[in-house]
Formats: sequence, C-alpha cells, structure tokens
Amino acid sequence: MMLILAVLSMVIQRKCFLRINKKEKIVSFPKESDTKPKGELIMIKEIVFDMDGTIADFYNVPNWLELIRAFDPMPYKTAKSMWDMEALADVLRQLQKNGIEISIVTWRSKESNPVFDTLTRLAKLEWLTQYGFPFDHFHCVHYGATKADSIRKHLKDGEAILIDDNKHVRAGWHLGATIDPMTENIIEVLKGLI
Ligand SMILES: [Mg+2]
Repeated sequence: MMLILAVLSMVIQRKCFLRINKKEKIVSFPKESDTKPKGELIMIKEIVFDMDGTIADFYNVPNWLELIRAFDPMPYKTAKSMWDMEALADVLRQLQKNGIEISIVTWRSKESNPVFDTLTRLAKLEWLTQYGFPFDHFHCVHYGATKADSIRKHLKDGEAILIDDNKHVRAGWHLGATIDPMTENIIEVLKGLI
C-alpha cells in the first residue's frame, strides 16, 4: 500500500513538473564565457539572430562592399544561406512551440540614407521570407546599434541567447549566453534546447 502511494505521489509530482515546464521552458545551457557553474538552470525566453555573416553569407557576395557603397541592396537579397535553412526553421518552430521567441536584430549598412535604409530593411525581410525563417520580432537597426536595446523592450524575464558572428557584439551582450556561428553548429546547439 505504502509503495503504491509513493509511486502515485511521484507520478503526480512528475505531472505538475511537466505542466510547469510546458509553460516556461527551463533548460540548462553553458555560457560561452562559462562564468557560471556547470548545470545551473537558465530560463531561456528568446533566441536572437544576427543576419550578415551569421545566417546570410553576405560577405561572400561578389563586390558586396562596392555595391553597398553605391546604395544597391542587391547583396542583401542574393546572399546564400549559411545553414540548412529547412532544418534550422524546423528547430526554430519547435522552440517557438515551447514558448521561446525568435528575434532578428540586424544592422543596416554603414553607408546610410533614408531610402537605402528602407530598401535594406525590405531586402533583409525578403531574404528571411525566401528561406521560410520563422521569427517573432524583426529589428533592422542602425550600424553599430546596441542590439540588447531592441530586446530589452519586450524581454520581461529570463534570458535571451545571441547568435552573432561579431565577437565585439557578443562580448557586449548581457541578456544571456552567446553563440559564435563561426565555431558552433547552431542547428545542433539549438536542438539541444528543445
Ligand atoms: Mg554579422
């Protein structure tokens, strides 16, 4: 009898635990800097993506710099993808189902004017649409903008993971862990959060 009660209570507790976790996904994730002790639970609420050099192979578009300096947004549209975008989108959709939001925070060109800024924004949105990239927030901000400023507005609690090829941007990130897409397989890392 006691054994049955003990098992029953374990089952009930397990159910409660699962219910809580369904609402607020709690996962363990090692920080790039690894400053926190291993195994600490971090509540991840958001994954933040850079675009150029992180998911879009912008810097390998022939003459990208000359084109951008001539205010031609073509390189933003024609950049190849750096990942299996179907696999990446699949992982992101599963994370969204678990309550994690997906954000894009991408800089506009250093060469800027109002018309070109708009064209850049549209080209980047077109690129994301072309690959069926799922996202909840899209911020196309001025070159050099602090990326956390775009996220802090809606991130109420928990942490936001940044995936960005720029080491200075990663170093300045204080809303959660960072991932370097040049050294990590982002699809595999994100799979670990599902
Ligand atoms: Mg970049």
